[in-house]
Amino acid sequence: MTDIRPELSQCTLCADRFAATATAHRPNPVVWFQPGARLLIASQAPGLRVHEANTPFWDASGKRLRDWLGVDEATFYDRSRVAIIPMAFCFPGYDAKGSDLPPPPICAKTWRAGALDTVPDVRLTVLIGAYAMRYHLPEFTTVTRAVANWQNHPEGVFALPHPSWRNTGWLKKNPWFEEEVLPRLRAAVRNVLDD
Ligand code: SF4
Repeated sequence: MTDIRPELSQCTLCADRFAATATAHRPNPVVWFQPGARLLIASQAPGLRVHEANTPFWDASGKRLRDWLGVDEATFYDRSRVAIIPMAFCFPGYDAKGSDLPPPPICAKTWRAGALDTVPDVRLTVLIGAYAMRYHLPEFTTVTRAVANWQNHPEGVFALPHPSWRNTGWLKKNPWFEEEVLPRLRAAVRNVLDD
């Protein structure tokens, strides 16, 4: 199997696209996976803080996500156990109104299959947000339905809303998520990481 990580780390396919955003930044792929990982976080794309720190979920979303998973920071960032593979490896930038731009589709087309091939020992996949759900769940319609439908996904797959502060309202409106889904998710995470 070819190791795509050195080439991916140098990727500049979106240089022109990023230069044209309000942030006018350069590509900086945040590559955080290696063979042997058992838990896959299939996420969306780095935010600005992650882009600057070169570390995935290096923000308040990461704190909330670790709480949802029931893991501490050291475990979460242990690449031999946890792989973090987003739909785009670089920060997509902000538009003129300061809103997050979506992950460029060319990233998943170019790199995703190779990245997933690098982690054949994954036993539990946690999908975060609509872009990852659309890629991994053929029946995807909405985030709320995908999260609520946790019992019917393929074995070893959970779907979560994005742990961003922007979803605090969603969490209040859907208390079943914390009551029903999170205890099962934490048990599944413990199971694959302790095995
Ligand atoms: S987002 Fe993906 S395809 Fe675009 S420059 Fe970054 S690594 Fe390359």
